[in-house]
Amino acid sequence: MKMLIQGQLVDAEGAATFNVSNPATGEVVDSVPKGTREDAKRAIDSAVDAYKVWSEKPAIERSRALLKIAEVVRANVEELATSLTLEQGKPLGESRSEINSFANTCEYYAGLIGRQRGAHTPFSTGEGFFIVTKRPIGVVGAILPWNFPVSLMGWKVAPGLAAGNTFVVKPASTTPVTDIRVASLMVKAGLPPGAVNVVTGPGGVVGEELLDNPKVSKIAFTGETATGRRIMEGSAKYIKRLTLELGGSDPMIVCDDADLQLAVEGAAWGRFRNCGQSCTSVKRLFLFDSIADEFIKSFAEKVKTIRVGNGLDKSTHMGPVHTEEQREKVETMVEDAENRGARDLVKGGRPTEKELARGNFYSPAILTDVDYDAKIAREECFGPALPIFIVEDLEEAIERANDTPYGLGSSVWTKDVERAYHAAERIQAGTTWVNSPPIARAEVPFGGFKQSGFGRELGIEGLDHYFETKSIQVLEYGKGKKWAFPIG
Ligand code: NDP
Repeated sequence: MKMLIQGQLVDAEGAATFNVSNPATGEVVDSVPKGTREDAKRAIDSAVDAYKVWSEKPAIERSRALLKIAEVVRANVEELATSLTLEQGKPLGESRSEINSFANTCEYYAGLIGRQRGAHTPFSTGEGFFIVTKRPIGVVGAILPWNFPVSLMGWKVAPGLAAGNTFVVKPASTTPVTDIRVASLMVKAGLPPGAVNVVTGPGGVVGEELLDNPKVSKIAFTGETATGRRIMEGSAKYIKRLTLELGGSDPMIVCDDADLQLAVEGAAWGRFRNCGQSCTSVKRLFLFDSIADEFIKSFAEKVKTIRVGNGLDKSTHMGPVHTEEQREKVETMVEDAENRGARDLVKGGRPTEKELARGNFYSPAILTDVDYDAKIAREECFGPALPIFIVEDLEEAIERANDTPYGLGSSVWTKDVERAYHAAERIQAGTTWVNSPPIARAEVPFGGFKQSGFGRELGIEGLDHYFETKSIQVLEYGKGKKWAFPIG
C-alpha cells in the first residue's frame, strides 16, 4: 500500500518502507512508505493548493461531497472492516461499526454545514452594528492513534472539511492501511486531490514536520498525554490552533439503587470493547458497599464468558492487545496491583491455547482489594484489566473518581435523577454518561477536562474548532463623529 499525496498513491522519497503486522498472528499484513520530512512537505503544499479551491466552495457543495464520501465508504464496509481487523486486531463486528461511524460523522457534518446561522447585532452605542462570521483555519495536521484509526480520522476530517479546511493525515505507524484506503475512497468520491493527504512514517519525523511547518495552521491530535505535551511544545513556535484528545481513566460509579444487571452489561461493554483500548472506557469501577457482593458475583460470571480470539473469527468477543509493548504495560500494571495485595476476581493473562500463541492476546483481568496507589488506579490502563473499589456513598465515590490527573469520561448508574445530576455536575470529566457505558455520538461534543486534553470533537462545538471567528464592525454613515481625533 502506498501513501496518498495530491490524490495519487505514491512511494516515499527514497522508496523506504515499513511493515504493518497483524496483532492476532504476528504476520505481515502490508508494507507502507516510510515517509520523510520532504514527503510531509509535499503533502502540506498539496493541501495548501487544495485549500484555495476547497475553502471557496459553497457550503452546499462541501455538504454534498461529504454525503457522497459517506455513501462510497458504506458501500465498501466489508473490505474496509476486514482491513481494519487485520491491522488493528478488533473483532470484525467492531470494525464494521467503526467504518459506519466514519460515514455517520460525515453525514452529520454534511447536514450541519448547510444550517449555519449567525446574528446581526447593533452596537450598544447605536453607531452601527457587527456581524460575526466564520472562516476556515487553513491546512490541518491530523495526528491519529491506533485504537480507532478510522473513526478518529472521521472526527477530524469530517468537521474540518465541512468548514472548508484541508488536511495532511499522519496515521499511527501500526495502523496506516485502512486510513489510506478510506482517504483514497474520498478522492474517488469526488473530493479534490490534495484536500486530504495521508503521509505514513514515524511520528518523530512526519509528525514533527507537521508541527514545524508554518503552512500548517492547526493540529488535531488524539493519543497519549505525554505525546500531547510534545505536540503543544512543537506547536508553540507558530501559535498553531490545537485540539488535544488525550488519555483517560474513566470512573464508573454504581449506586445502591442501580439496575445491577444493566450495570454489569455496561461494565463489560465499557471495559472490554476494543480489548479495553479506548480513550474513554471504564477504567476504574466504584461499587456501593451494599450492592458490591451481588454485582461482583454477576460481573465475574459475565466476564468469564468473554471469548478471546482472532478478530476475523465470528465467535470472537475480544481480539488481541494491539502490540506486544501494550500487552507488557497491562501485565506490569496487573502485577503491580497484585504485589500490593489485590485479589484476582477473574485471573487474566496470556491465554494458553496454541492457536493464540503468536498473537498479543491477554484474557480479561478483574481485580478487587486494589490499593489506591497502585499503577492501575493512578495511570491509564489501556487494555483488558479492571480494578474494583468499594465505596460507602456517592460523596466518597465522587471524591475517589476525581482523584486522577485525567478527566475524559465517567459514568454513574442510578435510578434517581437527582443523584445522577448531582454526580454529573461534580465529576471532573468532559462527559458523564448516566446508566450507559461510554458511547460517542456524532451530535454530542466530546473531549477532556484536566490532562485529558482540550478542545472538543463532534457536535456543533467540534465544527467550531475548525473555524476562526471573524468580527466585522460596520459604522453607519454619518455616525463617525464619536471617534474624531483628538479625543475630547
Ligand atoms: P502516541 O501518543 O505515541 O501516538 C499517537 C500518534 O502520535 C501516532 O500517530 C504517533 O506516530 C504520533 N506521534 C508520536 N510522536 C510524535 C511526535 N513527536 N510528533 C508528532 N506526532 C507524534 O500513542 P501510542 O500510539 O504510542 O500509544 C501509547 C499510549 O497512548 C497507549 O498506551 C495509551 O495509553 C495512550 N493512547 C491513548 C489514546 C486515546 O485515545 N486517548 C489512543 C492511543 C493511545 P507513530 O505511530 O509513528 O509513533
